[in-house]
Amino acid sequence: MTLKRKILTGYSVAFILMGLVIAWAIANLVSLGQATNAILSENYKSILAAENMLNALERQDSALLLTLLGNGNDGNEEFRNRESDFISWLARASDNITIKGEAELIQAIKAGYADYRNKFAVLTDQRRQSSESDTGLATYQQIFYPTFMKVREDCIGLRNLNEETMYAASLRANNVARRAIWSTAFIGVSALTIALVFSLFLAERIAQPIKNFAEASRKISAGDYAVIVPVETDDELGLLAREFNQMAQQLNHYHELNIEQIVAEKNKAEAILYSIEDAIVVVDNNLNVNGINPAAKMLFKLDAPDTASMNFINVIENHDLKELLQKTIDSGQQTKTPEEQRIVSFTSNDQTRHYLFSATPVLGKERSLSGIVLLLKDITRLKEVERLKSEFVMAASHELRTPITSLGMSIDLLQEHISTTLPAKDRELLQAAHEEVHRLKTLVNNLLDLYKFEAGKIELELELFPISTIFEQVRSVFKNQANIKEISLIFKESEQLPLVRADANKIAWVISNLISNALRYTDRGGNISLAAQKIGTQVHLSVRDEGPGIPLEYHSKIFQKFVQIKDRESGGSGLGLAICKEIVRAHGGAIWVESEPGKGSTFTFTLPAVE
Ligand code: ADP
Repeated sequence: MTLKRKILTGYSVAFILMGLVIAWAIANLVSLGQATNAILSENYKSILAAENMLNALERQDSALLLTLLGNGNDGNEEFRNRESDFISWLARASDNITIKGEAELIQAIKAGYADYRNKFAVLTDQRRQSSESDTGLATYQQIFYPTFMKVREDCIGLRNLNEETMYAASLRANNVARRAIWSTAFIGVSALTIALVFSLFLAERIAQPIKNFAEASRKISAGDYAVIVPVETDDELGLLAREFNQMAQQLNHYHELNIEQIVAEKNKAEAILYSIEDAIVVVDNNLNVNGINPAAKMLFKLDAPDTASMNFINVIENHDLKELLQKTIDSGQQTKTPEEQRIVSFTSNDQTRHYLFSATPVLGKERSLSGIVLLLKDITRLKEVERLKSEFVMAASHELRTPITSLGMSIDLLQEHISTTLPAKDRELLQAAHEEVHRLKTLVNNLLDLYKFEAGKIELELELFPISTIFEQVRSVFKNQANIKEISLIFKESEQLPLVRADANKIAWVISNLISNALRYTDRGGNISLAAQKIGTQVHLSVRDEGPGIPLEYHSKIFQKFVQIKDRESGGSGLGLAICKEIVRAHGGAIWVESEPGKGSTFTFTLPAVE
């Protein structure tokens, strides 16, 4: 049965019961009406007839007395008038014989009344013939009074009989009414009870499956997909239960698939993690360890059971490493810390190993940070190769310096003594040899300086001096070159500059290198400005030119050794800025460039101010 039909059946039962109660009430009302009607038709008419007969009879009796007392005409007329009243009421009573004994009484009234009338007829005849009136009252007493009393008593008897019957009928009607009230109340209460029980039953039958659905949905949302809603009925709810079970099964299937996929992905990630030789640690936002590979365990000397949700901050001792992790957590992005600040060394068994570390954020939902992958790449071999290379370059440069110096001196002497006697072509060759030896000397000196800086073998000769002294020195050195290229050298010194503690020659070297680069790249008629100002605890020195500018990808690269911008011939060796960086770093400062292609460049470096 469909749900709709069930609900309609429920309503139908209620309607039928209501109809029953109404029908019963109507039937009771009808029978009550009939009982009342019976009283009216059976008794009331007879009582009325008996009353009127009595009335007519008493008036006739008065008319009779009038006649007997001598007023024959009036008495006679009144008697006849009342006679027709009596007869008509008697006829009505005869038509309404409904109770036992009534017929006999009417018969007696009829007989008595006929006798009464005959006697009156005889009396009127006698009166007409003899016209005597003296014996009136005696005649009435002897002849009429007994007959009159007889008819009167019968009429009263008829009235009383009907009154008694009417009382009995009224009692019966009362009984019928009482029965009707009780039976209607009983049937009404029974119908209500049945309707209530049936409604409760039906409501339960409909509500139970819905409760089952609610329970099943709750289980599914709690992750229990193996639920089954019982299919108890064949209606729409049964159909819904079947569809629901199918959906739950499908969800279960997807869930299992998902779990399989997640497990597979996890295993894959673990396999990758374990197969990498570099140390890798995966931490969450609170730096609790989520994953660690054998290389990292070995590096941080951690045993397997210790790592489960251990806080990584307690494991690391290196300040830079801690800072990098914290910065990555705070910013939610990979930080742009330079490589040289991302190196950490570990010593074990008298062996020191160097690692380059990097922290990559793991982004979760809505691209918010959910963890960090820390990679420590072993660069010990790389460092060793770098060291060997530096040592070799240093040794080679050192060895080259003496022959180049004597070569330069020889060429200088040659130029001094015999150049005037040589043909012009040979003089040019000699000049070219002089220039190349000079270039070679500069390169070798630069190389030696750079590697000495890198190896920490250069000692700074620190002294206190005002920046203006260096500006003066540089102005006199570059005045001529600038004039030749018609370039204006502008010096901007902010007032009340503090002194700096630095190696004046080396700082002059840095500024000279920056200005000579600027001169090289600035077109004739351009401007180069040199500025110094105090910002915070630092003095910022900058060289600004109007040259071709430097592409963004070179902004940090040009400070590395031998790096030159592609397709831009400089005639230099690519070591100048690298030496500048080493000198500035040795003073505890930093150097950087701000530039856009086509809009010139500004090189700035800092020195700590002395108050
Ligand atoms: P070198 O000048 O000897 O090549 P540097 O280390 O001084 O070496 O400079 C490295 C490179 O940086 C240069 O080759 C040049 O391409 C670029 N460069 C340096 N200064 C400037 C500048 N002011 N404007 C444009 N490019 C520059």
